[in-house]
Amino acid sequence: MGEVIVPSPADFHVHLRQGTLAKLVTPHVRKGGFTLAYVMPNLKPPITTTAQALAYKAELEAIDPTVEYLMTLYLSPDLTPEEIVKAKNAGIAGVKSYPRGVTTNSDGGIESYEMYYPVFEAMQRVDMVLNLHGEVPSDAATNIHVLNAEPQFLPHLHSLHKAFPRLRIVLEHATTRAAIDAVKECGPNVACTITAHHLALTVDDWAGQSFNFCKPVAKFPDDRAALRQVIKEGHPRFFLGSDSAPHLLHSKSTSTPTQGCAAGIYTSPILLPLVAHLLESFDALDKLQGFASTFGRSFYHRDLNAEQTHKVVLQKISAHVVEGKYGAGEESVVPFWAGKELGWKIVAS
Ligand SMILES: [Zn+2]
Repeated sequence: MGEVIVPSPADFHVHLRQGTLAKLVTPHVRKGGFTLAYVMPNLKPPITTTAQALAYKAELEAIDPTVEYLMTLYLSPDLTPEEIVKAKNAGIAGVKSYPRGVTTNSDGGIESYEMYYPVFEAMQRVDMVLNLHGEVPSDAATNIHVLNAEPQFLPHLHSLHKAFPRLRIVLEHATTRAAIDAVKECGPNVACTITAHHLALTVDDWAGQSFNFCKPVAKFPDDRAALRQVIKEGHPRFFLGSDSAPHLLHSKSTSTPTQGCAAGIYTSPILLPLVAHLLESFDALDKLQGFASTFGRSFYHRDLNAEQTHKVVLQKISAHVVEGKYGAGEESVVPFWAGKELGWKIVAS
């Protein structure tokens, strides 16, 4: 009691950006207690080739060499089965699918998954992971919107799993009871990441509060209860992927009627204390090691022996107020939980 040790904490979904923002936020992976970062490829331009991924990895290692960066490619029509083999041989871990229309201005959509079947076939053969942003694009004609976009995606998860039963698939940042149930129904090759912020927020928290706005949006209290419950169960196919996504202050905090705020919540610098704090709040602190390290490592075949393990120690404290922002002036980012208290602090890392 009062102290928790987490072996080599691993964040299986993080956005580290590029340029000056990358320099600001990349060191926050370690600051937040994590030694492994599974890095998302949605840069400008997106990471679509092995060469780009390796160059980006080198850039991140130059900023902070103490973190292990697992790299991913962005699924696009340019990606070929040959490139998949090349990527696998270069140590690239996965391919991320962003449904067009959710993150880019495209009228294409999930329906086109079949065009990627040769790529998925190659991924299954060489054992690379498919990471799914599990939402379909909003469409007024079919009543699809931010609150049902994830449940509407789940039939695609099932059909992909059926077509490629040996392909390891991760449904990213699940926010609904339906998604938790769907992943549970699938076999051992399908897993699911859960963010820290979705364990805290519901719709009421982001309606009118841009700093709590992200995609997928936080859903209803019953959905949040399902996310908490599956962690409490200690289900090994559900693990942490923070989806920590920094945006500069001015793009989160807008006050004009013509400009919406950016979607994304920034948790990296406080991640492990935050996860401990939240798990404790629903009586699941004993699942912290599995959720924030061993379950994800096991799914991704990144288990460590005792010698390789880096122990991070958290201590229970009465009150630790989260900083209001990192960086200066226009070049600053505001973390989730800013100005609020956490009951845990990293004392050795
Ligand atoms: Zn993300």
